[in-house]
Amino acid sequence: MLRTFLYLIGSIFVIALMRGVIGIVTKGVAQLFEEEAAADKTASGKQPSKEGFGGELVKCPSCGVFFPPAKARQRSVQGQTLSFCSEDCKAKLAV
Ligand SMILES: [Zn+2]
Repeated sequence: MLRTFLYLIGSIFVIALMRGVIGIVTKGVAQLFEEEAAADKTASGKQPSKEGFGGELVKCPSCGVFFPPAKARQRSVQGQTLSFCSEDCKAKLAV
């Protein structure tokens, strides 16, 4: 009788412990996924608004992508200096 009682208490304790561990693990995994989702959002935002990116972004006149001016490839077109996102775009734009 005492043995059955102890088994019962023991299994309840083990189940409680496992549920706690599973809870911590699922929470950790959920957090990990949330972080990944947030990272994906920033990475896949091809047309971000200007605010929140810590600086001005310029629009590529060839493909329309916004990019930081530091990466610009410049080319003079009809007296205007245009900034392109890549050498490809720079070559692609017909004048
Ligand atoms: Zn481009």
